[in-house]
Amino acid sequence: MLIVGGGFGGLYAARALGNDDRVEVTLVDRRNHHLFTPLLYQVATGALSPGDIAQPLRSILRKQQNTTVLLGEAVGLDAARREVRLADGGTLPYDSLIIAAGARFSYFGNDGWARDAPGLKSLDDALEIRRRILIAFEAAEREGEEARRAEWMTFVIVGGGPTGVELAGALGEIARDTLRRDFRSIDTSHTRILLVEAMDRVLPTYPKDRSRSAQRQLERLGAIVRTGTKVVALDDRSVTVELAGGAQERIPARTVLWAAGILVSAFVAEVARATGAPTDRSGRLLVEPDLTVPGHPEIFAIADAAVMPWKKDRPVPGVAQGGIQGGRHAARAIRARLDGQPVKPFSYSNRGDVAVIGRLAGVTDIPWLGPLGRQSGFAAWLLWLGIHLVYLIGFANRIVVIVRWAWSFLTHGRGSRLITGQPVLPPIEEPEPPTGAPPPSGPPPPTGRKASRSADTPGSSHAGRASTRHD
Ligand SMILES: Cc1cc2nc3c(=O)[nH]c(=O)nc-3n(C[C@H](O)[C@H](O)[C@H](O)COP(=O)(O)OP(=O)(O)OC[C@H]3O[C@@H](n4cnc5c(N)ncnc54)[C@H](O)[C@@H]3O)c2cc1C
Repeated sequence: MLIVGGGFGGLYAARALGNDDRVEVTLVDRRNHHLFTPLLYQVATGALSPGDIAQPLRSILRKQQNTTVLLGEAVGLDAARREVRLADGGTLPYDSLIIAAGARFSYFGNDGWARDAPGLKSLDDALEIRRRILIAFEAAEREGEEARRAEWMTFVIVGGGPTGVELAGALGEIARDTLRRDFRSIDTSHTRILLVEAMDRVLPTYPKDRSRSAQRQLERLGAIVRTGTKVVALDDRSVTVELAGGAQERIPARTVLWAAGILVSAFVAEVARATGAPTDRSGRLLVEPDLTVPGHPEIFAIADAAVMPWKKDRPVPGVAQGGIQGGRHAARAIRARLDGQPVKPFSYSNRGDVAVIGRLAGVTDIPWLGPLGRQSGFAAWLLWLGIHLVYLIGFANRIVVIVRWAWSFLTHGRGSRLITGQPVLPPIEEPEPPTGAPPPSGPPPPTGRKASRSADTPGSSHAGRASTRHD
């Protein structure tokens, strides 16, 4: 029995088969860890460290004697020979296969945008985003020219789903609270955070009143929410958006973060090709009611890799619970077959949605709690905290995360604000001399040194001090 992917779907399938010695489980993942994605934005914004939200798969599953964990990337499927091909040329045979390789954000055919607008999916993405956010503030601190400083202090987040909303909220909190006292030349509370969403509201899968509440809470944190607005072009200095009426606007911004669309991983596309399975627009496999691939009862596709049936006109949303329940269902189905029992159709139980906005706010939509399940603000945040800690894999992680959070609430800090990776700081451009001005005498100042700031400008809190500090 082979599982491809150790995310929510794959890990919970492996765990559910762990105490069954009739089954030999092999779990293969291209990363050596399980990632708790709901807290990934906290790493991207410096509140948590990577190790707080990830655990090696090998250590999570070490007590399961029937389970082998392998590091490897699945790249192909031979459905006739029942083999999965790995990137290193090896093959893994199976009698039953669970495909749980997940999905990533989609750039809607503009994959080149990924360079200038990274998405948040892996720990590497989170560290890259953290680097870009922190560098933007550093560069703004050294930038003397108003328009260029404004570019550094403008952040555009594309996609108003839960990830975009949580990122915008965390950025608002960083700018207005955490970093406020750390800089001298800029006032970080003047940071512009734009959340751009093509649909007419943020959190489009939540009820409308939750979307309105989320927008209000974001605006309280200083974020500007632009709904009905579609990105049509972007580069390393700007984003061009198209408004509902068709007009276009160029927004100068040095930091663009992508949290829109969904596209399955390349391996899932290979599975569709090899089995002839139908897919939706995002490439997710359209599965039978028991989550098997049509014509292949030995292959299950679950979680973000599949369109798992739920309501008549709505499949299971791309949330962790979809993975957890899909994984457990596939494990139950494999057991039922071993017992000679019929396999039941998959049935999804909606546990609800929670999105956190900034430090102590959020929105919830948890239908089974009745009116109590529709919270905003602090109550929503408390619910979110409880739910996420319960599901955080690994006891040690939970303790560490609680302690770190408690500390960051007490100190209003984000202790993991470290810039790592290269380049540390992009070249800071020197201001153009005004037309007709005499050429500067003497040697030019070293890169990044600003001779002076003329006056208080947006984003500049201590304009007069810039020269003192730098010189
Ligand atoms: C930033 C972010 C925040 C989120 N927040 C929430 C939230 O607050 N609440 C919530 O319910 N849901 C949240 N989600 C959604 C949730 O993470 C997903 O729905 C869930 O992880 C899907 O589970 P999965 O098993 O399909 O995929 P994943 O958990 O993504 O796991 C896929 C695994 O497959 C591996 N893999 C991929 N391709 C290959 C290959 N070719 N070979 C080998 N291994 C491969 C990957 O390394 C990964 O470990 C969030 C998602 C993101 C990105």
